[in-house]
Amino acid sequence: MHELTLMQSVLQTVELDAAQHHIERINKVKLVIGQLTMALPDSLVFAFDALKTGTIFANASLVIEERPALCQCQSCQQEYKLDDFFQFICPSCGSSDVKIEGGKELYIDYYEGE
Ligand SMILES: [Zn+2]
Repeated sequence: MHELTLMQSVLQTVELDAAQHHIERINKVKLVIGQLTMALPDSLVFAFDALKTGTIFANASLVIEERPALCQCQSCQQEYKLDDFFQFICPSCGSSDVKIEGGKELYIDYYEGE
């Protein structure tokens, strides 16, 4: 899976930004991960722990916020959370004219360092 690559680019992004702000140690990194990105939080934590040794992230903790996938029915405007079966059918009127409203988020919310 792409978690290791993903985490590498996250750490790289934070490291570059930290260098610009003269931050030498990172204490905390917060990520927001949408359900539809298919990135597994456990794998991300594992990748983070594997990559952080000997870097400015050595003592940092990783916080992950998962965002559910949200759909909105275009027929009756009903909003609902996408279930594990990824059925794109409106639970209230049965229409398949459904638009994905959320769940594709994948970004660094913030990081803390000194
Ligand atoms: Zn509907």
